[in-house]
Amino acid sequence: MFSALCRLLAGSLFLGIVLLVQTVQAGNPLPVSPKAVKRALAEIHARYQPDDSGKVADYIPALAKADPHHFGLALATADGRIFAVGDSDVPFAIESISKIFALALAFEDAGRKAILDNVGVYHTGLPFNSMIASDVRQVKLQNPFVNVGAITTTSFIKGRNSAEKWQRQMKTFNLFAGRRLTVNREVFDSEEATNQHNRALAWLFKSFGYLQDDPMDAITRYTRACSVNVTCKDLAVMGACLANGGLNPMTGKRAVRKEFVRDILSVMAITGLYDSSGPWFFHVGLPGKSGVGGGILAVVPGKFAVAAYSPPLDRFGNSVRGVKAVEALSKLWGLHVFEVK
Ligand code: GLN
Repeated sequence: MFSALCRLLAGSLFLGIVLLVQTVQAGNPLPVSPKAVKRALAEIHARYQPDDSGKVADYIPALAKADPHHFGLALATADGRIFAVGDSDVPFAIESISKIFALALAFEDAGRKAILDNVGVYHTGLPFNSMIASDVRQVKLQNPFVNVGAITTTSFIKGRNSAEKWQRQMKTFNLFAGRRLTVNREVFDSEEATNQHNRALAWLFKSFGYLQDDPMDAITRYTRACSVNVTCKDLAVMGACLANGGLNPMTGKRAVRKEFVRDILSVMAITGLYDSSGPWFFHVGLPGKSGVGGGILAVVPGKFAVAAYSPPLDRFGNSVRGVKAVEALSKLWGLHVFEVK
């Protein structure tokens, strides 16, 4: 009995030392104390909660049901700590933020060149659902975060059949989140019934020879991926995997190879907030990604990720409170990647 207790104590002491060494090796990812992190999140949350500007997305009918008062913030560090405030456990459709994780798997499956050759990493300066179809010269100047680019990216995910491709896609999402995510059936059905525009884009890209295999299969998997439910905390953890070089800091499992993390963060920096990516990067200075479900994610490479959730969107499709909150945090802690310290 006594020796078992000693062994247990020695075991936990050893684990504690290992964790401590890991943390010290990585350097403290937080710019301030944990207490000050909590205070900053609470203060910023309280500051923007009364801001009810923006409009909940309704072009996908099921999204219109989201509660415009919901507002959550979460921060997850590259050494596995999480801080959250507000509605950070409310599930919502990940929408365009899913494009990050489809891209991660497409990089793994098809390699960097296939994505650069068939999709590109151009800042289109255009809304997420456009493709400049009338201007054939622009056809190649896309990126993995406009819809047509993401659908093409999705078509590069490997598998013997559609079910296996989807299962691998979901496995990647789960590795990033560190738990089993599920599809919001209502959002999927609603989006599937109203995505004719995306279907047309997929067929066009098939006709140009960029999109692989069956465009309607790519569309279904893309739409299903957009309908995956996440919470603000999930998003923060998913971002923390990128902050941590592709390794999930909560589970210790690899979500994506390190060599692709820089590529993914670059695409986020170039075009994560669609046609407002310019002002976003100018003011916030972090790779980010938004979704019309009201989620937004920003990554501080090597350190941590911040996620926000609030459904009302600005005219570009970004969460109003989310953008304001992340910008406030970036200013408060001097997080802009071009800030010379
Ligand atoms: N599923 C949405 C669409 O295809 C994603 C758009 C977004 O979040 N910006 O329109």
